[in-house]
Amino acid sequence: MQNHFTKLKKQEFKKLIIGAALKEFNAIENFSYLFTHAQADAIDISAFPHSVISALKGINTALAENSQLKKPLLMVSINVGQDPHFRRIELNKELCTSCEDCIVTCPSLAFFLDEQKKFQYNQDLCFGCANCLPACQDKALSFSNWNSFDSKSLTELIELGANAIEIHLNADFANFTKIYQQIPKTFLLESFCIGSQSANADFLASSVDEIIKNVSNKHSSSYQFIIQVDGLAMSGAKDLKIKDKDQVSLDKAKLVIDYIQNKYPQQVKNIFVQVAGGTDSKTFAKAKSQKLNINGVAIGSYARKKINQSQTKQEALKIAAEIFT
Ligand code: SF4
Ligand code: SF4
Repeated sequence: MQNHFTKLKKQEFKKLIIGAALKEFNAIENFSYLFTHAQADAIDISAFPHSVISALKGINTALAENSQLKKPLLMVSINVGQDPHFRRIELNKELCTSCEDCIVTCPSLAFFLDEQKKFQYNQDLCFGCANCLPACQDKALSFSNWNSFDSKSLTELIELGANAIEIHLNADFANFTKIYQQIPKTFLLESFCIGSQSANADFLASSVDEIIKNVSNKHSSSYQFIIQVDGLAMSGAKDLKIKDKDQVSLDKAKLVIDYIQNKYPQQVKNIFVQVAGGTDSKTFAKAKSQKLNINGVAIGSYARKKINQSQTKQEALKIAAEIFT
C-alpha cells in the first residue's frame, strides 16, 4: 500500500476538507464516509474531540463496506491568529425578521425551516464562507472568530485517532513559533497553510522562511512536510466572477515553488507543495498542463457543495467518486 509520502512524491496526494470550523457531527461523519469512498489520502476536520470521533465513525463504515479502500490520514486544523477558516456566522435573533433570504445562499444548509416551518440556524454547520452575508438586508448576520489552539486537547485528539495536523499560519510569526513548539511531535504528517488572495511574493517568501526555520529547529532539516498554498479561501462555495478560481492558488504556488527551489535547494525534496482554494476536480490536470509540479491538491467547498446537492446516498457516492476524476 502506498503511504502518504509516496503519494506526495508522485504528485498525487489528494486531501478533502470537511472544514476547520464545521462542528456538526452528523455532517462530519457523512463527509468522512463519502471522502473515504472518494479515496482521499487525507481528510481535514475541525480540531474538536467529537469531530475526530465522528470522522472515524464515517471512515470505518466506508472501510467495512469496501476492503479495497485505504484509510485516509485524519488531519486536524488549527490557526495562529485570525483566519477566515476559523470564523462562524452569529445570528442576531433580535434583528432577524425570518425573511428566509439567506437559506438558499448557504452551501452547508446551515439555515433551514424546521418541521413547524420556522426559520432556524445551526451554527455547527457553518464553515465561514461568507456567502450568506450579502443576502441579509437586516444585518442580522455577522462573523465571530475563535482560536482553535489548545495543546492539551491536541494530545486528546491524537489519542482519539487524529494523526496529521494543519497549522494556518497567517502573518503572526511570533505566535506561530510559540504555538508550533507546543504541538506534539507525534503527528505522522504536518502541513502549513499559507496565502490569501492578497498575499504577494514577499509575504509568501517570509512565510516559507518562518516555516522552514521552525520545522528545522523542532525536527531536522530533512523532516518532510507540506506547505499548502491557499489563494481564494473557501471560494469553491461562492459564485465569484473570477473565471479560474484555482488559478489564483496555482499562481501563488508557483511563486512558492520557485522560491524554495532558489533559496532552499537542499530541502526541495522534503517540502511538498499542495494547492487549496478554488480547487476542483480539474486542478491537478491544470497544474500539469502548466508544468507546475505541485505535490497535492486539497478540495473543500467545491466537494461539499456538490455533495449537499445530492438527494440520495447513491447520488452522493457517485459525486464523491468523481471528485478527483
Ligand atoms: S453561507 Fe457560509 S458563512 Fe453563511 S452560514 Fe453558511 S457556511 Fe456559514
Ligand atoms: S436573511 Fe437575515 S433576516 Fe432574513 S432570515 Fe436570514 S438572517 Fe434572518
